[in-house]
Amino acid sequence: MDGGLLAALADLLLPRTCAGCGLPGALLCRRCARLLTVPHLAQPRRFPVGFPPTVAAGAYAGPVRPAVNAFKERGRAELARPLGAALALAVAGVVAGLDGGCREVRLVPVPSSRAALRVRGRDHVRELTGRAVAELRAAGVPAAPARLLRRTGRVRDSAGLSADQRRANLAGTFALVPGAAAVGRDGVLVLVDDVVTSGATLTEAAAALAPAAVHAGPPVLAAVVAATPRRVPLTGPGADRRGQQGRLSGPGNGD
Ligand SMILES: [Zn+2]
Repeated sequence: MDGGLLAALADLLLPRTCAGCGLPGALLCRRCARLLTVPHLAQPRRFPVGFPPTVAAGAYAGPVRPAVNAFKERGRAELARPLGAALALAVAGVVAGLDGGCREVRLVPVPSSRAALRVRGRDHVRELTGRAVAELRAAGVPAAPARLLRRTGRVRDSAGLSADQRRANLAGTFALVPGAAAVGRDGVLVLVDDVVTSGATLTEAAAALAPAAVHAGPPVLAAVVAATPRRVPLTGPGADRRGQQGRLSGPGNGD
């Protein structure tokens, strides 16, 4: 029996609780769902060079973390609906700044590694992308999924790596699929992923996708369900120095 079916059965047999706060009732209660309706620019702490303009629907903090995790790692695939709606909001937010009318928005999912797909038994970013496209179309935004990126080679687990190590680990991770340039020519490309933490993955994916994007402005935009909130900047004497150290040697986020 596959994980998706087990999760579906568990849902029928067990009382439903909110994946965010654990209260009985909805899959994602209204209060937790509201945390994913605050689109804002994601600003990773270290802001890697080449990080694409990225809008997140909410902060990856509080009840949003267990909700995303339940969807991603614990097979609660039915969360694709509310999380996909959040992703659609983020996509709408990031393309709102572009002029040029209603060109088709192409949502490019960041591909998961083969190992991650094997462990999860499903492609959760693809599921999110499908839901987000449906939401955007329902709202009158011309949108379509575009699987333009593929994974290349093998990447180590990024847990415990420094920012530089993570960057090196990811370099060359993504490549365009054949024919990607033709698809990118007549649409706005928006990379989509579940969460952004350090920004390393989106930066690498944007670099790989850039040759397929020919529209004006930033070559590649990105949208995510949630972004790790940026810490409040330090103020006072020594703040600059400490800020820099944080950028250079902060602990890894696993992104
Ligand atoms: Zn809740």
